[in-house]
Amino acid sequence: MNDATDPHWLPVELLMALGVAQADELVQALTGRPAWHARAACRGMGPEIFYPALGESVNPAMAICVLCPVRPECLRYGLANSLQLGIWGGTSGRTRRKIASMNKCPRTRQALEDAPPMD
Ligand code: SF4
Repeated sequence: MNDATDPHWLPVELLMALGVAQADELVQALTGRPAWHARAACRGMGPEIFYPALGESVNPAMAICVLCPVRPECLRYGLANSLQLGIWGGTSGRTRRKIASMNKCPRTRQALEDAPPMD
């Protein structure tokens, strides 16, 4: 059975015919998630590990993120949308606030400009 939240059920031929940019838009429109999320190492996992309670370790989440092929996209998303909670791109909210405060850094500014907006 197809799961409408799983972009992998989409026919590969259709996605290839659309091209990368349009296919990404289609995946996002259908799933409500950025297209890169389909390639995330955390895909299919529950959110609990990425939203540790106060006093819980972030290390289990970080161990997954360090191997994730879309870590840069995830970090840009977290930064661009000022996400304060949870682990995004292998960073905690505290780390993202530090990165955001370094807005004089051209690379940080560029990452913020390149990130897709949050719906
Ligand atoms: S970097 Fe971490 S939180 Fe982001 S998509 Fe990858 S595994 Fe998930």
